[in-house]
Amino acid sequence: MFDYLIVGAGYAGSVLAERLASVANKKVLIIDKRNHIAGNAYDHYDEAGILVHKYGPHIFHTNSKDIFDYLSKFTEWRNYQHRVLGSLDGQLFPIPINLTTINSMYGLNLTSEQVEEFFASKAEPVKEMKTSEDVVVGRVGRELYEKFFRGYTQKQWGLDPSELHASVTARVPTRTNKDDRYFTDAYQAMPLHGYTRMFEKILSHPNIKIMLNTDYKEVVNEISYKKLIFTGPIDEYFNYQFGKLPYRSLDFKFETHDKETYQETGTINYPNDYAFTRITEFKYLTGQRHEKTSLVYEFPKAEGDPYYPIPKSENTVLYQKYKKLADELTDTYFVGRLGTYKYYNMDQVVAQALATFKKIQHQDSQESLATNDVASSINKNGSLGRY
Ligand code: FAD
Ligand code: UDP
Repeated sequence: MFDYLIVGAGYAGSVLAERLASVANKKVLIIDKRNHIAGNAYDHYDEAGILVHKYGPHIFHTNSKDIFDYLSKFTEWRNYQHRVLGSLDGQLFPIPINLTTINSMYGLNLTSEQVEEFFASKAEPVKEMKTSEDVVVGRVGRELYEKFFRGYTQKQWGLDPSELHASVTARVPTRTNKDDRYFTDAYQAMPLHGYTRMFEKILSHPNIKIMLNTDYKEVVNEISYKKLIFTGPIDEYFNYQFGKLPYRSLDFKFETHDKETYQETGTINYPNDYAFTRITEFKYLTGQRHEKTSLVYEFPKAEGDPYYPIPKSENTVLYQKYKKLADELTDTYFVGRLGTYKYYNMDQVVAQALATFKKIQHQDSQESLATNDVASSINKNGSLGRY
């Protein structure tokens, strides 16, 4: 009998497996329907021997020392600051929009203060930043919104930014300085030997058994366990009884080129041209040296593997219905990007998993207190007393 059955060997499932096994000494079975661990962060060496990310480019960044310290138990790191350029009419501009973007796009020589005034003069008054359109037009105005955000967002989500929650485009800031890093988090690094190696270490504990190529539905009645942690799609768990939660999917096209570098920086975004949103060249991210180079193109689509929950109010309402069902279950926990329908980065999923572990520990200690109460009332009265 396992103490825990964990469905999904991505960050949510693997971090919980590790904590339960090593801190709480629980026996854990972790299953995944894929033929590998690491969830969407899985990386591997392609035919040319270049380390690539099977489910699109993954760059680790966090402001939390606790999260960074936790993962550092399982990997060494390579410092890496991601940089992105946007391709507009054949010219490349830094993204997020910064002082250099504006000066080179408009042939200006503004200072930081002047560019702040420039943005203020272009920004449209927005009462409440509700949608992804509000965020950008309220900050930099409609022209830059049309150039950098509208087309990209329509491609990526199949929706107009006005239909998406503000938090989506708010992920990308606007800068008045020349900082051209995509992220400004305190910790930005790539696992030195890749994500999959890090996950191998996270899951390497005698209390953890791993079963791959195993779908929850096929085995749930054959495995005996006390508690369940589910990190797959929450609507799937409940047999879509309120209808399907929409997810955005992607096709990935990989290419290897017979030259050392292909493009100017790690990622180039194509907001308005082509069916793909961006091209990422892995060697920038991993620091690998190789005479060839491998790239991935991302083509968004509606059907397929669920990669992105879609932050939109009617989807949140539907998710809340499933969450209510989830809250009514005992000894069953829903965690992760698919389990809680949240557009979370890797560090946020780790934080959520660690918080869930604390909650479980707390519940376990309450249970054992209650058990002790029973035991002590038996001792005193020779009966179950109030129980
Ligand atoms: P997942 O990694 O999706 O793991 C869930 C696992 O559950 C999967 O392996 C799945 O096979 C398994 N599963 C589902 N249903 C079942 C079932 N019925 N039976 C058995 N197994 C099942 N984050 C960043 O911080 N930085 C980035 O640069 C970044 N880039 C990204 C790029 C792309 C294209 C995508 C899609 C995501 C990116 N992310 C990034 C987000 C990151 O991938 C997630 O935050 C993280 O992987 C979520 O972990 P998870 O454990 O919640 O889910
Ligand atoms: N976005 C955009 N243009 C860009 C970059 C981002 O419109 O050049 C918008 C788009 O809606 C995207 C969102 O901002 O989905 C978040 O971008 P991010 O790079 O964080 O997306 P992810 O890496 O999660 O796919």
